[in-house]
Amino acid sequence: MAIATTDPATGRVLKTFDAMSTEQVRQRVGAAAEAFAALRATTFAQRSEWMRAAADILDADTGDVAAMMTAEMGKTLKSAKAEVAKCATGCRYYAEHAEAFLADEPADAAAVKASRAYTRWQPLGPVLAVMPWNFPLWQAMRFAAPALMAGNTGLLKHASNVPQTALYLEDLFRRAGFPDGAFSTLLIGSAQVEGVLTDPRVVAATLTGSEAAGRSVAEIAGREVKKTVLELGGSDPFVVMPSADVRRAAEVAAIARCQNNGQSCIAAKRFIVHSDVYDEFAAAFAERMSALVVGDPMDEATDVGPLATEQGRADVEELVADAVSQGAEVLCGGQRPDRDGWWYPPTVIAGLTPQMRMWQEEVFGPVAGLFRVGSYAEAIEVANGTSFGLGSNAWTADPAEQESFVNDLEAGQVFINGMTTSYPELPFGGIKNSGYGRELSSLGIREFCNAKAVWIA
Ligand code: NAP
Repeated sequence: MAIATTDPATGRVLKTFDAMSTEQVRQRVGAAAEAFAALRATTFAQRSEWMRAAADILDADTGDVAAMMTAEMGKTLKSAKAEVAKCATGCRYYAEHAEAFLADEPADAAAVKASRAYTRWQPLGPVLAVMPWNFPLWQAMRFAAPALMAGNTGLLKHASNVPQTALYLEDLFRRAGFPDGAFSTLLIGSAQVEGVLTDPRVVAATLTGSEAAGRSVAEIAGREVKKTVLELGGSDPFVVMPSADVRRAAEVAAIARCQNNGQSCIAAKRFIVHSDVYDEFAAAFAERMSALVVGDPMDEATDVGPLATEQGRADVEELVADAVSQGAEVLCGGQRPDRDGWWYPPTVIAGLTPQMRMWQEEVFGPVAGLFRVGSYAEAIEVANGTSFGLGSNAWTADPAEQESFVNDLEAGQVFINGMTTSYPELPFGGIKNSGYGRELSSLGIREFCNAKAVWIA
């Protein structure tokens, strides 16, 4: 894939970049290793000061960075601005809490026949981060902020369609005061990832992206005995039960499906509705989806912009065509408009059967699948009936049923009567083919730390 900024709203290439040579990459890995020696010797207070400075720069740069992201991958300008603000919040969160999260953790010294025993959390070294384009700033930041606060250094291989955002991130941490090499961007294609990961100076990798990319990176890391965190795809269920506030659920459902132009790993993708409220929900949901404003992502009034890539739209169209050819019903949308760029309208598809690809596969665009179920047990069976386990939503006013959903949904997140999102305070990640390991919270910062057991006689 060429390393270039292509405006998804028009399909025009705006800027191209040459991939870095093997030698340039080697130098950057060397700089990351040197910076690690310096960074690990700094105090939490020093790193917090730099991390807070990064947050302040993000605040000041909001308008320009947001416009750059919109130009690179088509998200609406208002959601791009919200993403920048979220990144600043993430920086401040780890600036404030990293020291407590990584403080020595006392153990029962008497039980292990020591005078003192504890766990010490120490950074590991340069970590490779392979990141996707869909939240180009936040996905990278949710790795970078905890990693740098722990004293690790970062090497970012960003998606090839967001090179300007990738370069901005390197510049941001340098301007904030972090040593040169503490956070470097590698402008490389995915074929060059193996060379970086097999470099002995790189100690671990994190990947957010597709299952195929995750498997490939984990395979290399496995051979190298290097730790990985994988944040992969999802096909999140959104279950609506008879006691739910159906109109509110339908309102949130449209946002949950179409946020980020339908390209969020934790977007609700499969809408599983009890037959008692199915007709009411389906009508309200299709009405809400049809009412979303599709248009110029730079316009503050727009709800849904174009898809990020031509291939991404082709993938969505293929899944819809497969379902329709086998008898699924299109309640709204379903046809691309006749214009330049990678547009696709909010779409609701009903009457899905297990033979259709949409039953199992992730649709990475503004297309919702509607499923009718007759009981709680059937809702759980359909909800858990994919290979994914990222986020999940359930709508019910019944406290006992809420508790059952919390226990029974196979997912890394369960949101009851609300839309799945991420917060620095809550762990984020998946189970099954959605990956392993956690980002955010105290768990995220510990993923790339050595939990060193200390025993003193
Ligand atoms: P993708 O094709 O896997 O790309 C993600 C990153 O991996 C890019 O930097 C890409 O580089 C790189 N890559 C691709 N194939 C690779 C390989 N074989 N070896 C090494 N690196 C490789 O994913 P995408 O299509 O852009 O993103 C959509 C997917 O990501 C969806 O499934 C979505 O659900 C998932 N996602 C998950 C999360 C989460 O937190 N769980 C968050 C966001 C997205 P190039 O651009 O150079 O190909």
